[in-house]
Amino acid sequence: MERLKQKIMQEGNVLSDSVLKVDAFLNHQIDPVLMQEIGEEFAGRFAGAGVTKILTLESSGIAPSVMAGLSMGVPVVFARKKKSLTLMDDLYSAEVYSYTKRESNEISISKEYIGPEDTVLIIDDFLANGQAALGLMKLVERAGAKSAGIGIVIEKGFQEGGGELRKSGVRVESLAIIESLKQGNILFSKEEAT
Ligand code: 5GP
Repeated sequence: MERLKQKIMQEGNVLSDSVLKVDAFLNHQIDPVLMQEIGEEFAGRFAGAGVTKILTLESSGIAPSVMAGLSMGVPVVFARKKKSLTLMDDLYSAEVYSYTKRESNEISISKEYIGPEDTVLIIDDFLANGQAALGLMKLVERAGAKSAGIGIVIEKGFQEGGGELRKSGVRVESLAIIESLKQGNILFSKEEAT
């Protein structure tokens, strides 16, 4: 997605050979016009997949997911990283290890919002080692729902998550794939999706 790549080039900050900071438009401040275009792009790519719900992870997955949900006309559920007082019983949960934060989180959704009648599109901001996506897939499985695949805003193609998910047969659509962040330079891969 050309507009997204331009934005990454203009406003992204390479923090190390493996971490990209996009707080200017996705992870802290949010560019609603770009999010709307991202939502429409996901809606186009997954049109015809029979999606009835979008599932994401708080907090950075919510903005692109809501815009995709608006375009597709389906509700958005975000998995919580901490159990809130109002989210105690009847949960589906899964462990997610975060390499960036070096900690494990239990993510949960209420059983009320995803069930066997659903076809779920998973959306997240970044794909790196694939732990977040795998955790979300476990929630879909535990709910007995079908999976339509995974939509990712920025995939770091030099980390193994995307390759492993695709090898296992999961449909992964990434709007920008970064091949390298070496020496502060952002290099995109020519392939944007499988
Ligand atoms: P994974 O579980 O695929 O290893 O990592 C995905 C999660 O880690 C995403 O939900 C995202 O929040 C975070 N993440 C991984 N790599 C980056 C990065 O380079 N930049 C930012 N901003 N977040 C990242």
